[in-house]
Amino acid sequence: MSYKLPDGYANCELLPFNRKALDDDFVLSTPSQDPGGGGYRLMLQGTRVLVDRTEDINLPRDEQAMELGADQDSIFIGHWKGVPCRLQHLSRTASIPQSLHATNILDNEPGLPLSLLSLAGLGNSILHWERTSCCCDNCGEKMGRINSEWGKKCSACGSQHYPRIHPCIIVLVRRNNEILLVRKPEWAPGRFGLVAGFVEFGENLEQTVVRELFEETGITVTNICYQGSQSWPFPSQLMTGFTADYSSGEIKLQDNELSEGNWYSIDNLPQLPPRRSIARWLIDMAVNDLQIDTNRIKG
Ligand SMILES: [Zn+2]
Repeated sequence: MSYKLPDGYANCELLPFNRKALDDDFVLSTPSQDPGGGGYRLMLQGTRVLVDRTEDINLPRDEQAMELGADQDSIFIGHWKGVPCRLQHLSRTASIPQSLHATNILDNEPGLPLSLLSLAGLGNSILHWERTSCCCDNCGEKMGRINSEWGKKCSACGSQHYPRIHPCIIVLVRRNNEILLVRKPEWAPGRFGLVAGFVEFGENLEQTVVRELFEETGITVTNICYQGSQSWPFPSQLMTGFTADYSSGEIKLQDNELSEGNWYSIDNLPQLPPRRSIARWLIDMAVNDLQIDTNRIKG
């Protein structure tokens, strides 16, 4: 049994890693609300999730986690298909039992149901928070959990800290029948995507769009429109998606960020991002709109 990512999404709320994509199968809770008893185990080794493929694809049960000899440091995160679900980090050297399969959630086609893919992403974000929140930012002393919340409180100075989500923009720029696509050197060979970046001090999202585009490609834009957003749990970004129309400038790449950037006609697109990201959702939507426009002109 294997699953393919959908060809499209009715709206971007349904993209993988957004809470809506796992709502029917998972209810998020907090570690202090662990009801006890057996349950499912969400085990992550980096961005690899361990799944049981015996029948359909599902999370392993506690008993299968025990085979790893590593049931010490799991935390309760909520209910998966109505059953308690606990999250566990696996070291890089942990060997995987024969009965389980490790699947990389960042593969182009991870072959997982959307809800399970999204839950694994959520787990990645939570593990990042757990790793980075053991000590207080304020004084360096140990932190403890706040009851029924994901926040933590410092045992010494009392300051409270909550999971940090970092806002980013990602933008699709149109120029007549073309769209702007760029490449980072570390991406898969031949694959292109969109300009993206972190919001900086004092910026609103539209200002980040303008700055990132100018810094990375040397162009300016107009008609900046918010289209939707996606939780990106690698480790904890919120991607806010925009479209914009080209205004002025020639493409001049920032050397250390991008290796390529060009205008592409929608009839001649290079390899695009996989259908699990808001980048692809924005591209598919723009291509669809431009095709409708082209057909209208022809008609
Ligand atoms: Zn403190």
